[in-house]
Amino acid sequence: MSFAGKTAVITGSNSGIGLGVARELARAGADVVLNSFTDSDADHALAAELAKEFGVKARYIAADMSKAADCRRLIADAGTCDILVNNAGIQFVAPIDEFPTEKWDAIIAINLTSAFHTTAAALPVMRAAGWGRVVNIASAHGLTASPYKSAYVAAKHGIVGLTKVTALETAQEPITCNAVCPGYVLTPLVEAQIPDTMKEYGMDRETVIKEVMLARQPSKDFATVEQLGGTVNFLCSDAASQITGTTISVDGGWTAL
Ligand code: NAD
Repeated sequence: MSFAGKTAVITGSNSGIGLGVARELARAGADVVLNSFTDSDADHALAAELAKEFGVKARYIAADMSKAADCRRLIADAGTCDILVNNAGIQFVAPIDEFPTEKWDAIIAINLTSAFHTTAAALPVMRAAGWGRVVNIASAHGLTASPYKSAYVAAKHGIVGLTKVTALETAQEPITCNAVCPGYVLTPLVEAQIPDTMKEYGMDRETVIKEVMLARQPSKDFATVEQLGGTVNFLCSDAASQITGTTISVDGGWTAL
C-alpha cells in the first residue's frame, strides 16, 4: 500500500528502530517527521537524506520526549499526523532496591508517558483527517519480564495497556492502535555491544550472539530494523484495518517459550 499524502511522526527516530521505521514508511511514500531531543546538523541532514532517497517530504523536529509540553508541541509543529509511531525509549538495569529514582522517572517518562501525550495530541488531528494509525513500539518486555529491568518492564507493560485503551476509545472510527513487541533487534547500539561482550566472555562473535545476547531468542537471530519497519507498514495498511488493540511480536519465538 502507498502512504502517499500521509504524514508519519516517529518519536526517537534519529537512530535504530525509529530511523528504520521512518525509512520503511518513507519507502512506501509517507512524508515523515523525524525526532529526538538533540538538534544537530546531523539530525537535520538525516531528514534531508531521507527526502532525497525516497522523494518524500521529511523534517526533523527536536523535542524531548521526557517533557509533556515537548511531546504535545511535536504533534502541533508537525502540522498533521496521520501515522504516529511512539518509539522513543531508553534502558537502565539495576536491582529494584538499588534502582536510582531519577532513572525510574526518566524511563517511565520517555518509554510510557510520552506516548500518552503524543497520542492525546494526535487523536483530534486524526479524527479531523478521518483516518489514523497509532503504533507503539513496546518490547518482548511488554509481555514478559527479566530481573533488573523494573522500570523498563513496567513501562513496556504500561504501553501495552495504553495501546488497548487507545484502541477501545477509537474502535468505531477509522483509527487503529497496536503495539509491536520486538525481541532483540540488530541496531547500531546492539552491534556496538558485540566486541565488548566477546572480550568479556572470551567467545567469538557467533557464539556470543547465540549463547549470550540471544539466550532467550529461540531463533538465535536478531530481528532487523527493516523487519520492524515492515511490521509497522503492515499495521498502517488497509489489510490491518480490523487489527486494533493488540500486540504483534517480532521476537524469534521469545514469547512462545
Ligand atoms: P536507540 O537508542 O537506537 O533509539 C532510541 C531513540 O530514542 C533514539 O533516536 C534516541 O535519540 C531517542 N530518545 C532517547 N531519549 C529521548 C528523549 N528524551 N526524547 C526524544 N527521543 C529520545 O534504541 P532502539 O533499540 O532503536 O530502541 C527504539 C525502541 O525500541 C525503544 O522504545 C526500545 O525500548 C524498543 N526496543 C528495542 C529493542 C532492541 O533490541 N533494540 C528491543 C525491544 C524494544
